[in-house]
Amino acid sequence: MTDKTGVVHLIGAGPGDPGLLTIRAKECIESADVVVYDYLASPFLLKYARREAEIIYVGKKGGDHTLTQDKINLLLVDKAKQGLSVARLKGGDPFVFGRGGEEAQLLLEHGVQYEVIPGVTSAISAPAYAGIPVTHRDHTSFVSFITGHENPDKKDSSMQWDIFAKSNATLVFLMGVKNLGNIVKNLMANGKPSDTPVALVRWGTTSRQQTVTGTLDTIVDVVKKAGLKSPAIIVVGHVVSLRQELAWFDKKPLFGKRIVITRARAQASGLVSQLTRLGAHCLEIPTIQIIPSEDTAPLETAIDHLNNYDWLVLTSVNGVKFFFDTLFGMGKDVRALGHLKFACIGPVTKERLADYGIVSDILPETYRAESVVDAFSSMDMQGKKILLPRAKVARTILPEELNKMGAVVDEVTAYETILCDGGKETLISLLTDKKIDAVTFTSSSTVANFMSLLESRDAAKLLKGVTVASIGPITSDTARSFGIEPDIEANLYTIDGLLDGLLTYYGQQ
Ligand code: SAH
Repeated sequence: MTDKTGVVHLIGAGPGDPGLLTIRAKECIESADVVVYDYLASPFLLKYARREAEIIYVGKKGGDHTLTQDKINLLLVDKAKQGLSVARLKGGDPFVFGRGGEEAQLLLEHGVQYEVIPGVTSAISAPAYAGIPVTHRDHTSFVSFITGHENPDKKDSSMQWDIFAKSNATLVFLMGVKNLGNIVKNLMANGKPSDTPVALVRWGTTSRQQTVTGTLDTIVDVVKKAGLKSPAIIVVGHVVSLRQELAWFDKKPLFGKRIVITRARAQASGLVSQLTRLGAHCLEIPTIQIIPSEDTAPLETAIDHLNNYDWLVLTSVNGVKFFFDTLFGMGKDVRALGHLKFACIGPVTKERLADYGIVSDILPETYRAESVVDAFSSMDMQGKKILLPRAKVARTILPEELNKMGAVVDEVTAYETILCDGGKETLISLLTDKKIDAVTFTSSSTVANFMSLLESRDAAKLLKGVTVASIGPITSDTARSFGIEPDIEANLYTIDGLLDGLLTYYGQQ
């Protein structure tokens, strides 16, 4: 027990696209002690939760209730009474068919403080992502949100089918897929023209979004043929015809492509967010993890003797990070580097270095060790001392070639790349079930570790039909050494290059 007053935030988590979370909702998740979520709330949002926060999944998929509504309510009351701040994430908006009203009433009854954070409801956003505006001056002047869950044959039904049928409103049904036949039947029986356009949008706003269209007459067959299931929004009305002109989301170049990201989680976010913006569904299965070197003494000794060096050569953003972490950890700052010249292997490393206020003296034309060597070859390197902080296991070409030029190279381990196998089972089952369109490899170690996750399985067979995208020739060679021929190799050996490669590849298909 604490003496803090607990509070429950009833949060609209939006329809699925993590970008549709409100700023206030994000703040509440970030400060919560307990996060309670169900299957409609995107699990991506959990990354905003504090590491210490308790995360509770309460399920609720159709009839499959992991916790009953009563138990969920009691859980919220119990946690809040312990003085905890509870973030109750609900799909879409909590007060639109979300039982948020009931939860609030119960909290009130128990004297628990609550706040409601409205969310972007699927009733509007799923149609919007399908190119269907729920109102439009040329088509309709009002919109109704209707439960599709109620059995329309129910005697004491509150469903006013005659009104729905006669109005020119856009009718938006939630929870209605199973009942589609009845909905259609009732609308037509009450006089709604059989050629009224209808759309169903499943998993709207996510990369799994699926949309089908028809008319009241045809939609049941269309849905059956497409095998479309819940959760979906049903839109009935003339605005549906605007989709032909206004569809945008499902026209994105990588829409619906399921792409595996193998890079370390800490570095994946840029690639993930860019791919997601292009419509891809990213599956983060990091195969590597970057950790500080176990033995920090060599780097510390080198930093203690920085005056002995002429050059500092950085081959990755990790090298930059761990070098500066160690420097600052030793109580020093960038003034210790004033006399040094710098070389970076690629533009991202250069940018990272610039974050520390340092402009690289050398940036090679292409982003690989060979090009750094070329850049040095026009200089007199005789007797020059070079500090090269980098990964424990790294290519030897750079120190070898610099040595040949007469330079003295001190290679020190700044970090280690280790195997991350947390996603092994997921990866194997996704590959076995052929649920992956593409795999991206951003370094040789992502390839080698990916293969080691597959253990003795036949990689070529598992990757059959999967597009393999490599960031550059060295990574591609590593893939080939495992019998895998990349379909895509980035022209520029960067993440942007990899994205361009994917876009070109899928654009040509
Ligand atoms: N409070 C939620 C609705 C919960 S009721 C909201 O405001 O969106 C559950 C129903 O919402 C589902 O049966 C489905 O009809 C709809 N739904 C929720 N998320 C959806 C999505 N991403 N795409 C399509 N329909 C969705």
